[in-house]
Amino acid sequence: ETLDKGLEKSKSSFLGKLSKAVAGKSKVDDEVLDNLEEVLVTSDVGVNTTLKIIERIEARVAKDKYLGTEELNKILREEIAGLLSETNSGEAKDFGIPTNNKPHVIMVVGVNGVGKTTTIGKLAYQFKKQGKKVVLGAADTFRAAAIDQLQVWAERVDIPIIKQKMGSDPASVAFDTLNSAVAENADVVLVDTAGRLHNKINLMNELSKIKRVMQKVVPDAPHDVLLVLDGSTGQNAFEQAKQFTKATEVSSLAVTKLDGTAKGGVVIGISDQFKIPVKYIGVGEGIEDLQVFNKYEFVDSFFK
Ligand code: GDP
Repeated sequence: ETLDKGLEKSKSSFLGKLSKAVAGKSKVDDEVLDNLEEVLVTSDVGVNTTLKIIERIEARVAKDKYLGTEELNKILREEIAGLLSETNSGEAKDFGIPTNNKPHVIMVVGVNGVGKTTTIGKLAYQFKKQGKKVVLGAADTFRAAAIDQLQVWAERVDIPIIKQKMGSDPASVAFDTLNSAVAENADVVLVDTAGRLHNKINLMNELSKIKRVMQKVVPDAPHDVLLVLDGSTGQNAFEQAKQFTKATEVSSLAVTKLDGTAKGGVVIGISDQFKIPVKYIGVGEGIEDLQVFNKYEFVDSFFK
């Protein structure tokens, strides 16, 4: 399966660490729980979420009096899937989008290099494949390369892109994009934005201005604010989630580059800590290497 392949590094490392954590032990005791804590933390689940998981397992040990280590996998799976359910992560079954908004406007945020452009391109491809009319907006006007790269994806997927010169007002690009999408009767709009974290006030102002201007064209836009995070960067991804959720209302997450990391646990921790659903995961550089996040498959892939 592609998901198993994509998450190969995470699962071999997690399962390996987990079996070491319980080696020679028949029941889950304090030592096993300590080891488990370390496995989760080193898999980038994050300290708070790790402690939450450990507490839940402790509670089950206390309730049942005895928990065999052979049952630990099953219980851990249940608890992790349960945590992801609390944020509605992995609820979507496919790349379908709500049909009650026309156009459905997705504003994409995230810092440079996390895979934002690639994720937009892969999503546009999936939406188009379902017969949707897609429009891209190049509102990351800070870097010429960002506009060029988005253009390359627009050509690859064969969809229109609305852009202006580098340095132009991002809100103006967003405005043009939505106007064009409405005129063309488009189904989905993906608007790329710049994510410069070094100036939080600017970031906040820029994102709110883009939203405000979008709403002049589509009053309830954006319908989704998708934050793209690089899953291989562990604590940096946590920090970025913190900054972006402070700057704007983030409604869903895409976690990229999970093919290149042994630390897929970041997906669990970030979703739990920020109470935002994970919608998509990136498992490669190719156009097909974006998946709708499925929490059961994801959790299972750690234990296979
Ligand atoms: P942006 O600056 O955030 O727009 O980032 P890009 O979309 O340009 O991506 C930066 C690099 O990461 C490119 O080389 C992409 O091919 C690569 N990339 C993006 N998503 C993934 C992924 O899921 N897996 C892997 N392995 N590479 C990815």
